Amino acid sequence: AKKMRLDKLLAHTGYGSRSEIKKLVKQGVIQVDGKTAKDSGLTVDPEQQEIKVDGEIVVYREFIYLMLNKPPGVISATEDRRERTVIDLLEIDDQVREPFPVGRLDKDTVGLLLLTNDGQLAHELLSPRKHVPKTYEARVEGDVGTSDQEAFTAGVTLDDGYVTMPAELVINGKEQTDNGIVSSISLTITEGKFHQVKRMFESVGKKVVHLKRISMGPLALDEQLEEGSYRELTEEELELLR
Ligand code: URA
Repeated sequence: AKKMRLDKLLAHTGYGSRSEIKKLVKQGVIQVDGKTAKDSGLTVDPEQQEIKVDGEIVVYREFIYLMLNKPPGVISATEDRRERTVIDLLEIDDQVREPFPVGRLDKDTVGLLLLTNDGQLAHELLSPRKHVPKTYEARVEGDVGTSDQEAFTAGVTLDDGYVTMPAELVINGKEQTDNGIVSSISLTITEGKFHQVKRMFESVGKKVVHLKRISMGPLALDEQLEEGSYRELTEEELELLR
């Protein structure tokens, strides 16, 4: 059984704040199993009981799973005093479900970010022991070459002394710019140290100038999603994660 307060259930399904729901209860428009609810703090079981607002059946989904193409300039947190967060990009109907980002991308990093309120799934994707692969595309100042590929395969030492696990570096192209060569690469890592991709390149004397995550485990960024846009995961994508 999935017991919860009536006002919490209705707040999470988008019927307003708790005080607004209190008003709906006062107006007598909320029914639980055909009986008018008298108390917004009533304990209900949305899986067993039929709850109606103004005659409309409330559909309860326990979890939401959102794929966001994170834009630059927002932080991967749920709340912040000063900065805009990824949660601010969501519609209110999704915010009320209280999703949180699964892992972090730096403020200037773009691309795939999964948001969910399913703590167990988040935990499994983030568990260091699971070594979930994450693939990034980056533009890097400098001529990235085979010596860098070999170094990343062997493991490089970061500024704090940590030696990274084997990572796969693919060189996609190079461009001559006014500031020298800029390389386009893909990098797959199976851990998630703070600023890991940037620090790996620093360790070989190169600078990441653009960073985008394109996959996390079996989940790939939907390239149709513009930066700042998001959508729910499809059933197929959810299946892949489970
Ligand atoms: N590595 C980084 O350096 N930054 C990110 O945002 C993600 C991985």
